[in-house]
Amino acid sequence: MQVPFLDLKIQYKSIKQEVDPAIQKVIDNTAFILGESVSNFEKAFAEAHNVKYCLGTSSGTDANHLVLWSLGIKSGDEVIIPANTFIATAWGVTLCGAKPVFVDCHPESYNLDPAKVEAAITPKTKAIVAVHLYGQPADMNKLQEIADRHNLFLVEDAAQSHLAEYESKKIGTLSSASSFSFYPGKNLGAYGEAGAVVTNDDNLYNVLKMMREHGQSKKYYHDTFGHNYRMEGIQGAVLGVKLKHLDKWTDGRRNAAAKYRELLKDIEQIQLPKEMSNVKHVYHLFVIQVKGDEKNREEERNKLQQFLTENGVATGLHYAIPLHQQKCFQDLGYKKGDFPVTEQLAESGLSLPMFPELTYEQISYVTDKIKEYFTK
Ligand SMILES: *Cc1c(COP(=O)(O)O)cnc(C)c1O
Repeated sequence: MQVPFLDLKIQYKSIKQEVDPAIQKVIDNTAFILGESVSNFEKAFAEAHNVKYCLGTSSGTDANHLVLWSLGIKSGDEVIIPANTFIATAWGVTLCGAKPVFVDCHPESYNLDPAKVEAAITPKTKAIVAVHLYGQPADMNKLQEIADRHNLFLVEDAAQSHLAEYESKKIGTLSSASSFSFYPGKNLGAYGEAGAVVTNDDNLYNVLKMMREHGQSKKYYHDTFGHNYRMEGIQGAVLGVKLKHLDKWTDGRRNAAAKYRELLKDIEQIQLPKEMSNVKHVYHLFVIQVKGDEKNREEERNKLQQFLTENGVATGLHYAIPLHQQKCFQDLGYKKGDFPVTEQLAESGLSLPMFPELTYEQISYVTDKIKEYFTK
């Protein structure tokens, strides 16, 4: 049996009847940039997250930049982000000319560890970016307390956590502004590049809206700096159709995660991901850890991955090299050992196949192979 890491084709086939005409309509109307399909989607996405405003953007990375840029983050400022995240979280900071300051993740949530944030704050710190990684919300109450105490902005990178909840509230609404990605492989994926920013703040919305489109208040009146970060009409149309199915697809992911947990619970050699008690996790990824000491855990993980690959099961590493160990951030002066929890996850973490349409047969094949590996 072959189990792909992700299968976008099944989902396309299931909505082809709806999505093809929606795309055709954009082409018929030649409404290629923003337009009705994007504003309809923005309205629906804002409603789904119980937030006042949503602005469609050209990507999640651009949304990350737009959020920090609109808050006035600039050269000389520092912004705290987790060491354990996708690199685009850091680009939001560097594109503002500011310096990313990394903080280790929590051993259970894998998100920014609030207990370690305060030690990283300096007089230059302006903001904290909470990333809801793998689909699990970060500890927003504790992070908000810290942000308030030090007069910092708190924002969310929600690229992996559409419709996730923290204390029964939708993520994306728990800070000044939040960025989403609709990269095709995300929980809500476009048919190309796309992202969004959501906020409840009227003033910030006006600034964001200008900045997304060349800083203009009306055509050719450029009141502020900006860029071209607009969403394409076709992406708005695709996302509008797909958003209607997102609750069902989220259930599919949560059911797949529950089956993995059930079938893997007795394997001593691995650690399953924890779901924190006050959240609704939306399982963008299901990341297990292969137990082992510091010397052999990476090798043990790689051997399991190799065995699964040979048996037709595709897996991923999220993320194999933490941000502080990336070559591009060498000048920041971090070294191996600075963030032990993040480093452990990088060396022992393995992401299992995860998508809403994963079948019980596929899941039990994956878990049987994992059992076979550890008993042979
Ligand atoms: C995917 C992702 C992004 C970037 O989104 P793009 O749409 O690919 O630019 C940002 N942050 C995180 C945590 C992501 O996973």
